[in-house]
Amino acid sequence: MYCRNCGKQIDDKAVVCVHCGVPPKAERKFCNNCGVQTQPNQILCTKCGVTLSAVKQKSRITAGLLALLLGGFGAHKFYLGYTTEAFITLAAVWGGLILLGIPTFIMGVIVFIEGIIYLTKSDEEFEATYVNSKKGWF
Ligand SMILES: [Zn+2]
Ligand SMILES: [Zn+2]
Repeated sequence: MYCRNCGKQIDDKAVVCVHCGVPPKAERKFCNNCGVQTQPNQILCTKCGVTLSAVKQKSRITAGLLALLLGGFGAHKFYLGYTTEAFITLAAVWGGLILLGIPTFIMGVIVFIEGIIYLTKSDEEFEATYVNSKKGWF
């Protein structure tokens, strides 16, 4: 396959491109099948016809369910790549137990609302807000 960041040919199983050091499927600049230059919002390669959906796209449903089921562990934050927010969630939920559980309760409500928001947004909105803009809360 070809690296989607630099367009050079790389091993099919490569996790990181040996030429540019970027995960080969994380970018959208080149077709991973034929190496031709592509537009970031292009869905199909105009040269070889292969689908160019970005692999880094996160599932809205998965994020929502993680928030509702494992939100207390910051699972949905880790899933979306929000490491800082994930640790804040963990600290508030578990550290909050020392403070009579009030922060735990508040964070529980926040996590629950976030889960509902994830599940009720459209896929496009979800991707724009949480994958592209990296909105940490709500
Ligand atoms: Zn590369
Ligand atoms: Zn192509």
